[in-house]
Amino acid sequence: MPEFQYTDDQRRSRYLERCPRILQNGLPPFEFARGWDDLAIELLVGIDNLLNDADAGAFELQQLKEKFGVFVVHFWLRGQRPHPLWPGSRLRRDQALRALVSTAREKSKRTCMACGTPGLLRESGWMRVSCDQCEPRWGKALRGEPE
Ligand SMILES: [Zn+2]
Repeated sequence: MPEFQYTDDQRRSRYLERCPRILQNGLPPFEFARGWDDLAIELLVGIDNLLNDADAGAFELQQLKEKFGVFVVHFWLRGQRPHPLWPGSRLRRDQALRALVSTAREKSKRTCMACGTPGLLRESGWMRVSCDQCEPRWGKALRGEPE
């Protein structure tokens, strides 16, 4: 399994280097372990590709987190109503945004939160997605805490 030797600052830099345009208004603290970094970055790059410069300037990423074993993202486009993820919005851009978010969610349900390799959603106790190698040490590793 890959080891994540990089620091929090390096982690943030990775995101900022890949998506400088949509992250110009900030990158919130990470509330998930590093195994999901690739799917989170893939999502953000996809969002970046869908937005024109004006929308990218209005983009505000509020939260990236794990909830009940699933990846959750909260963002909005400042000044725009309705919310781009509102199911009733028929804008092609919003439909594409919803598809990207849903792909990331589905991917997270089968990606080990600790190491990023294929994993299973485990529902006993604290809900988590882990591979067989990480499962025994899920307590700390999957929460993104140092061991
Ligand atoms: Zn793992």
